[in-house]
Amino acid sequence: MGDSERGTDPAIAGLVSSARAAAELAHAPYSGFRVGAAVLGATGVHTAANVENASYGLSLCAERAALSRALAEGDGEGIRAIAVACVDAAPDSPLGEVMPCGACRQWLAELAPKADVHIATADGGVRTFTVDDLLPHAFVLRRG
Ligand SMILES: [Zn+2]
Repeated sequence: MGDSERGTDPAIAGLVSSARAAAELAHAPYSGFRVGAAVLGATGVHTAANVENASYGLSLCAERAALSRALAEGDGEGIRAIAVACVDAAPDSPLGEVMPCGACRQWLAELAPKADVHIATADGGVRTFTVDDLLPHAFVLRRG
């Protein structure tokens, strides 16, 4: 699918809107960078926000929190899409400031390899990527 503009698709816009709403609930007192994620699975949408910790290294990104929630709510198989939105990005933020980090890309490669990844850009648009776009040649172990 690549990274084409997809902001006008109502289903994608709805998922991005859910991610934005989730970001409002972030615990981000250290970075001031609130991020929300919304995972679309077979049973519905699972949202979460980033949760920071005073020890910094224990902070959890919104993407991994939302993937964990999807699994905990029984929607681990068949994750179709994830939207990510940062409500604190400056309007002129480059794309890299709102993209998933490397750890989240690895989680996506294992838990949602076929998902479309919709990124709310700082200018109000949406860019869509495949997981393979974000982490080509990902580390994976054969199962079974
Ligand atoms: Zn991350």
